[in-house]
Amino acid sequence: MEFLAHVPVSGEVVAFASLALGLTAVAAQRSVTKHNPIHIPNVAEFERKRAAIIAGGAEQLTVVADFDRTLTPNRLPSGERGMSCHGIVESCQSLSESYRRETAALFRRFFPIEVSPHIPRSEKIPLMRRWYAENHRLLEKEHLTRADLVRAVAESNISLRPGARSLIASCATAGIPLLVFSAGIKDIIEEVLAQHYGALPDGLHVVSNKMAWSPAGRHTGFHPPLIHMFNKDESHLRGVGWFEDAGARRNALVLGDSLGDAVMAGDDGERHDVVLRVGFLNEVETEGELLAAYSRAFDVVVLRDSSLDFVMSHILGDVFASAKLAKAAAAGAAGSAAAASPAP
Ligand SMILES: [Mg+2]
Repeated sequence: MEFLAHVPVSGEVVAFASLALGLTAVAAQRSVTKHNPIHIPNVAEFERKRAAIIAGGAEQLTVVADFDRTLTPNRLPSGERGMSCHGIVESCQSLSESYRRETAALFRRFFPIEVSPHIPRSEKIPLMRRWYAENHRLLEKEHLTRADLVRAVAESNISLRPGARSLIASCATAGIPLLVFSAGIKDIIEEVLAQHYGALPDGLHVVSNKMAWSPAGRHTGFHPPLIHMFNKDESHLRGVGWFEDAGARRNALVLGDSLGDAVMAGDDGERHDVVLRVGFLNEVETEGELLAAYSRAFDVVVLRDSSLDFVMSHILGDVFASAKLAKAAAAGAAGSAAAASPAP
């Protein structure tokens, strides 16, 4: 029996609540809410990938997640837009007026190119590289301190998307390597996670643009390579410990909010047999324009800045549950063996 039956509703967007109509009794007990709209472009293909991930279990799975507007929400409950890594840096009080003016001009020029569904990826790449390089060059001249960053994160409005804390904790418990792969700034991401999650678990890796610091603690530039929105592929992951943790695993779950995020774990059959891609199409205003492109790039599209509930319950729920059972069984077996062995 299909775990998630497709219930056609008007248009292509399938409200999460409608999916519940076809669920088994067990599945229906899960956190299915009408507040979590989900679009699944090809239900049979989604089911195939989901079944492979569950069959492979925790031992065969890696999770690769973008950071800005994926592990963080796009908007706050107030409607205000949440800050990104680069936005947090730009909020540092010590930055000069000319820096703010010039980076704002760069944003107005390059952001429409980044999000345009009409410009081919190959044309975007050199432009994105130029945007990031110019932004970084301007920042280098400001000589920020680490204390500036810590304060900027604490004073920012950034938060974790509902379900992100649970995703990080559950992956750690189940022994699933989690890669946070971002075109943002590694130093900011680690500070956000430290302030909003706590100590990073062993299996969590952050690969992003890494700031360089002088011995006196002043920002002096960025370590190569430059990671931008459209070169987030596995070529950046050599030498960072990720392949040692995750390289041989058969299945990958990819979470991202930009079209470029869909390639973060390569194609199906390249490094992983199955790559299940979940895209977050956050802005209601661009839903009509972008849904077709997101539906081609992702297996699941989470609309309207919704939580990670669907990912946690309908994709990872069974993986986490079987990992927990396996751990309990192993602990039980170890306990029985200890009880059976004669006292020294
Ligand atoms: Mg993002």
